[in-house]
Amino acid sequence: MQLQSLYQEVILDHYRNQRGKGLRGDYQAESHQVNPTCGDEITLRAHLAEDKKTILDISYESTGCSISQASASVLFEQVKGVSIAEFEKIFNEYHAMMQSQGKLEANEDLIGDGVAFIGVAQYPARVKCALLAWMAAKDAIGKAAL
Ligand code: ZN
Repeated sequence: MQLQSLYQEVILDHYRNQRGKGLRGDYQAESHQVNPTCGDEITLRAHLAEDKKTILDISYESTGCSISQASASVLFEQVKGVSIAEFEKIFNEYHAMMQSQGKLEANEDLIGDGVAFIGVAQYPARVKCALLAWMAAKDAIGKAAL
């Protein structure tokens, strides 16, 4: 199977079976983000440990295209349980790949199934779809850590 079709399968799987979806009651901060060009929307909650150094949970409710939905699922999988310092690394790696027009091969150890979105990075109109949940997470985690 070619890498590109494998990546499409990965994205479709996350779209059909979104990990961690649904808003949960335990959280310190929430972020609502809209991508008007595509119609994607997400509300995301960050739940940090008491020391505010570890992300215990990311919960979210979202609607929109398959790219936006799948990327929220990958985000949950990669950042639930990690430290905020690690989240910054993961976020920066994914963000850099999405801004690279498909040229930067990202570190799979950091972003996991996020590597499947490299093809999306070639389409400027879809980059916002793939970043929406991640921007919401950065915003919510930043507020929660205050
Ligand atoms: Zn979209």
